[in-house]
Amino acid sequence: MRRLDLRNLEPAAEEWQWVYSAAVPRAEVDVEHAMAAVQPICEDVKSRGADAVLDAGERFDGVRPDQLRVPGAAINQALESLAPDIRAGLEESIRRLRQTCEAELEHTLVTDVAPGATVERRMVPMQRVGLYVPGGLAPLVSTVIMNAVPAQVAGVPGIALASPPNAEFGGLPHPTILAACGLLGIDEVYSAGGAQALAMFAYGAGECRPVNLITGPGNIYVAAAKRYLQGTVSIDAEAGPTEIAIIADDTADAAFVAADLISQAEHDPMAASVLITDSEQLADAVDSALLDQLGSAKHADRIRTALDGQQSATVLVRDVDQAVQVANGYAAEHLEIQTVGAADVAARIVNAGAVFVGSHTPVSLGDYAAGSNHVLPTAGCACHSSGLSVRAFCKNMHVVTYDEAALREVGDHVVTLAEAENLPSHGAAVSIRMSR
Ligand code: NAD
Repeated sequence: MRRLDLRNLEPAAEEWQWVYSAAVPRAEVDVEHAMAAVQPICEDVKSRGADAVLDAGERFDGVRPDQLRVPGAAINQALESLAPDIRAGLEESIRRLRQTCEAELEHTLVTDVAPGATVERRMVPMQRVGLYVPGGLAPLVSTVIMNAVPAQVAGVPGIALASPPNAEFGGLPHPTILAACGLLGIDEVYSAGGAQALAMFAYGAGECRPVNLITGPGNIYVAAAKRYLQGTVSIDAEAGPTEIAIIADDTADAAFVAADLISQAEHDPMAASVLITDSEQLADAVDSALLDQLGSAKHADRIRTALDGQQSATVLVRDVDQAVQVANGYAAEHLEIQTVGAADVAARIVNAGAVFVGSHTPVSLGDYAAGSNHVLPTAGCACHSSGLSVRAFCKNMHVVTYDEAALREVGDHVVTLAEAENLPSHGAAVSIRMSR
């Protein structure tokens, strides 16, 4: 990986976030560029519906499914054929994530603001959601779980799921993805990928009615389609090509660091792997461990492209304090801390999709079975967005109840404020009640 020496960079206290965000470059092709590619696809789906979705499948996934909606029999058959060890892994992953989601579920809260006056924050689930599960380079079966479990714990009544058609399986999504749907009781599944799948969710197409919210990760085109469709529909966050940043000092195990950098580069040639260290010795050891491990990696070409890309680098810093600032400026999707006092370093992180603390908490654990969610904001969005959770599938609604005495108590203030805003009819709606 190329080296970036930031040891002489000393931004002013109020500027570090912007300076470090610019100093650690991201991929050349960004979400804004990909918007130009996805806009005509989305508009085509809006005007031609299911045919446009199927045509785009033929163009981008190399197969035109016979039908957009996956037959229930195909889901049942995939579940019956699921290997027992994969089933056990999926069940454990579901169990751990469900535990976290149930603990995180926010409940209705009633505040008595005065005698006879209550404001209730009522939590209600979204009524219909569209879950996206990537399937281009790898069948991300774990993403079925990461999307569906929080939606189910939130109590969403209408759940639809889409994943790209796969030529090897006659235009259906990968059977393990279908089996995971069967395991979770999801029966509304579509053979659709990329921007066309998200447009199908947003506008409706064929049997698929429009949804209120789209969640799930994907490549740069999926992230761009989310940005384009936001407003027509709600989205969780832009969860594009994956990123790992690792803060490591000279106590870190270079082989562990290299394995973790490689693990995320395996996702996509556009994935970013960034090592932030104050130790040139560790940087050298990680470089040689990368070479060693790449030799036996199954997807070595994809990994090499990602590690050689301008989005990946070893960043040299003066000390752990500067490493924390660089990481907070970069706002990685995944951030690992492999230093002395890792928990204390992690406590100073304010911008990251998820933080993995200590040498025995690799990102891969979180990808599958930590109990955390792996759908996380990328491209610096972690400075304003959160990873997917049960909260994304809920709305809160204020339910306000005042009795007559409670209205009288505050009525004069309302009338005065309405007059101050030159909206006297607002005030009149209160005075008419107070005059009875
Ligand atoms: P994918 O399902 O995201 O993308 C496949 C789709 O891309 C195709 O169906 C096609 O419609 C579209 N596409 C391909 N080339 C196109 C083009 N030139 N123009 C328009 N559309 C095009 O699967 P993938 O490609 O394997 O990507 C999965 C991604 O998900 C990876 O980048 C991975 O890093 C990312 N991911 C992110 C997170 C996260 O939380 N941020 C989690 C898991 C995976």
